[in-house]
Amino acid sequence: MVIDAIFNPENWAAVPAGFWAAVFFVFGCIVGSFLNVVIHRLPLGESVVSPPSHCPHCKYSIPWWLNIPLVTWLWLRGKCANCRAPISPRYFLVELLTGLAFLACWLQFGAQSAPLALAYALLLAGFIAAAFIDLEHMIIPDELTLGGIGAGLLCSFFVPALHDAATLTGSLKQSLLGAAVGGGIIYAVLRVGKLLFGRQQVALAGETRIILGETAVILPDKEIPYEELFYRQSDTVQLHATTVELIDRCYRDVTVKLSPARLQIGDDRFSPDEVHYLEAVTRALTGLSSTLQG
Ligand SMILES: [Zn+2]
Repeated sequence: MVIDAIFNPENWAAVPAGFWAAVFFVFGCIVGSFLNVVIHRLPLGESVVSPPSHCPHCKYSIPWWLNIPLVTWLWLRGKCANCRAPISPRYFLVELLTGLAFLACWLQFGAQSAPLALAYALLLAGFIAAAFIDLEHMIIPDELTLGGIGAGLLCSFFVPALHDAATLTGSLKQSLLGAAVGGGIIYAVLRVGKLLFGRQQVALAGETRIILGETAVILPDKEIPYEELFYRQSDTVQLHATTVELIDRCYRDVTVKLSPARLQIGDDRFSPDEVHYLEAVTRALTGLSSTLQG
């Protein structure tokens, strides 16, 4: 492959031993600088390519000579060159971390194959972006997770050595299997988490009028869609109400239980399909996962 030829040690016999290690580190820092943009903009739904880097406080467009990874942040002591507003240490940290990650990939896999080292470096770059976004926003954008699956398959296609596979099909098969196993583990964590911690209490500020609508529980300040509450047929939302009003009748001081298949008010049972609107006055809502209902 062309890349292998570029990195072929015979072609670089005259170059000092640490040269490629330094190249990987510097390249990693530059990628880290881009990751900072990704971390800042992706969760906000902004483009990661335009506009060019600018100070979030004064919108000062940062010229290239003040956009040098690691150096700029240190040189300006973590402040904007224009308005002196503090720039988060995260920028420095992500650049350094990514640089070190790329360096480590080169040291570990470089001797074996440069594309292999690059593929692992790319994977780590994705992890770094995901980790910092997760830390701040408690989400990992689809662009990273789904994009990561795509990038993983592509890398497997171009770098079969990733899977110790000799052939392309072998590598792709391994890659798809890996995606299924990885996705399966995450899904299992979700299921187990729901089972173990599936009890969710929504405390209300005193007696509150809530509405069980057709698609969501409507609280004074927010709506909770049923799909967030009902994960399985057996999941239940329970509340004790001082009053319950249906279109044609009224209850006082009763327990209401709602699951996807059944609505129970006191001793009366309904199908949720026949009750499109229910108004209740209550102090708290409890979402119960099936295993906790005893
Ligand atoms: Zn500024």
